[in-house]
Amino acid sequence: MKTLTIEERKSISPQLVLELLMKGNQRFINNLSLNKDHLKILSEFSNEQKPVALILSCIDSRAPVEIIFDQGIGDLFSARVAGNVLNEDIIASIEFAVKMVEVKLVMVLGHTNCGAVSACINQIKDGHLKYLVNKIEPVYLKYKSEIDSENKPVDKLAEYNVLEVAYELFNRSDVIRNFLEQKKIKLITAMYQLDTGKVSLIKEIDTV
Ligand SMILES: [Zn+2]
Repeated sequence: MKTLTIEERKSISPQLVLELLMKGNQRFINNLSLNKDHLKILSEFSNEQKPVALILSCIDSRAPVEIIFDQGIGDLFSARVAGNVLNEDIIASIEFAVKMVEVKLVMVLGHTNCGAVSACINQIKDGHLKYLVNKIEPVYLKYKSEIDSENKPVDKLAEYNVLEVAYELFNRSDVIRNFLEQKKIKLITAMYQLDTGKVSLIKEIDTV
């Protein structure tokens, strides 16, 4: 979105932001990512940032959001934590992005072959991992019979986890609900395929 001015970023619709991200992912999976002069872009935004979306995703080294959506410096807020789960600080970061910077889109993005999700299924609870696993475990237990019967249970749980995280965000954040009700933002869930690089939308969350 380096072609967008600050003014254009202020008035862009949530739907157009979603379309720009998906077009960026299409460029990425077709190896047509745009050349970016990072230093030039940085100089344009050094005094003011106006990213248009926040993406909550996993720390996985193969899932850098700017690259997979073919975006540049200043385009996205990126909140990354193993298993793309929520805590108070992550919610605060999302609320900051929505309320203070007025991003138009919040995306919860899971991915295939997720180590955090796998740790949950395999009950790996060493050290602080237990806190993370304990967050994903209720989702696993809720859909356990279905997940266990899947060909790729880790990917199915990752998908359910994305949905649960988005609903949890909706339920816990008055700010997010308020902006959704006013249709100032979209809340989107999606999965990223590590083998192809493709991002697939799961669903848009606007009610529970
Ligand atoms: Zn992961």
